[in-house]
Amino acid sequence: MADLFKNYIDGTWQAATPGTTFASRNPASFQDVIGHFPASGPADVDDAAAAAQDAFPAWSSTPAPERGRILKRVGDLLLERKNDLADAMTREMGKPLSETRGDVQEAIDTAYYAASETRRLFGHTVPSELPDKFNMTIRRPVGVCGLITAWNFPIAVPTWKIFPALAAGNTIVFKPSEESPHCGALLVEVLEDAGVPAGVINLVQGDGTVGGAVVEHPSVDAVSFTGSTEVGKKIGATCGRLNKPLSLEMGGKNPMIVMADADLDLALEGVLWGAYGTTGQRCTATSRLIVHEDVHDELVGRIQDAAEGLTLGDGREEGVDVGPLINESALKKVQSYMQIGQDEGATLVFGGTTPDNPDLQDGYFFEPTLFTGVTPNMRLAQEEIFGPVLSVLTVSSYEEAVTVANNTDYGLSSSIYTENVRHAFQAMHDLEAGITYVNGPTIGAEAHMPFGGVKDTGNGHRDGGWEVFDFYTETKTVYVDYSGQLQKAQMDNAPDA
Ligand code: NAD
Repeated sequence: MADLFKNYIDGTWQAATPGTTFASRNPASFQDVIGHFPASGPADVDDAAAAAQDAFPAWSSTPAPERGRILKRVGDLLLERKNDLADAMTREMGKPLSETRGDVQEAIDTAYYAASETRRLFGHTVPSELPDKFNMTIRRPVGVCGLITAWNFPIAVPTWKIFPALAAGNTIVFKPSEESPHCGALLVEVLEDAGVPAGVINLVQGDGTVGGAVVEHPSVDAVSFTGSTEVGKKIGATCGRLNKPLSLEMGGKNPMIVMADADLDLALEGVLWGAYGTTGQRCTATSRLIVHEDVHDELVGRIQDAAEGLTLGDGREEGVDVGPLINESALKKVQSYMQIGQDEGATLVFGGTTPDNPDLQDGYFFEPTLFTGVTPNMRLAQEEIFGPVLSVLTVSSYEEAVTVANNTDYGLSSSIYTENVRHAFQAMHDLEAGITYVNGPTIGAEAHMPFGGVKDTGNGHRDGGWEVFDFYTETKTVYVDYSGQLQKAQMDNAPDA
């Protein structure tokens, strides 16, 4: 009998008001039911938002370094539970244990980073244009934050939002993906055990309708979302109507450029990790390989040889490199692009099918796949497939590589492999993306660096790094006039007026 899980509202674990549940299953073996989770209704969102609102005055007036002390304990507990959390994550969303350990490690790094920033929530002091007057800015928390996340980094990505939001003094309604509710619950358990006070973090489980209720809720003051561009744009429309601050982290179609002068050994390792790690289900996955014609055949041949050595399987087993896709609809979507690609005239070089291994028939597995002959406007080069599918495009110059790389609506990550320092530095400016790697694949975020994209990937905000605190704080401007008289700014009393 699989476990029955609850929402976490105002410091207690409670069933959803509609009384219904949904199951979370292991994508490597769909007979394996991880647990049943509350399918929350609007009343649960009401309760969670009310608890967060009630907890806000005390939490926001707790000295920031004291909030930091609790976040440090959160990091310590994540570290203690790292292997158990990684195992639960692999069981729930499929990526191999080495990757899920990395996911938890990113959460640990984020906890310690956010904790340390609580001693540095700086404003500015600025000279006044008038005598005996002091100008400064201070940071105030925003209020109740509604945090809605995807399933592919089910612990790391929520912590990119939860930890800085808490550090800055906000309270939270958290709605994890319906594909990773167990990871969401385990993360909130860590916060509870670390001593985050009742009402400061609230968890409501469920699907997009619950996410929609969080966004619309009048007591939710700001929303941060990670997920698809399609859903993000809908949330954007709602937040525009309600004049609610919103941070969006959405899809990607990330290019890796390999120039003729690149170190091909390095590029080979990078492309395998970038394209087939997490079964291609990363917002930053390398999904377009833009390769100079002089090295195209050699690189594609080497990728094919190396991809044959990748082991597909249950990520909890030793030696597995590539886990399953998340669910049946993801598998069907990836399968549909096999026909789309060939209809468009691209050449399927390897992969393109589900594995025939009898041990893998109970999961959503798909072979690492590569298409050549892809041209810039094909759907294979434009649309986020979110699976282990690499599209190879050929170019004959740096300028053409950049034009092709930028020919997409997305703008999350990008990379260039080259030994030419001029091209490396030019690419940092030329590539239309929030992130550029030089001589590294399109993946590899670090917790203390800003993370986010341009164009249809984002809306100008960043998770991670110092920049995330700009979203979770309001800047307040303060003037202190100690001259003892009324001084009027911009009136004709300036010395040279
Ligand atoms: P999704 O957009 O389907 O769902 C994301 C979250 O939004 C889930 O919690 C879902 O329940 C919720 N949701 C769905 N409809 C909603 C609505 N109308 N209102 C409010 N909430 C709603 O995405 P997914 O399939 O979970 O994740 C994959 C996508 O996420 C990919 O496009 C990937 O690129 C993107 N992603 C982006 C980043 C990033 O930082 N840029 C990171 C990870 C994943």
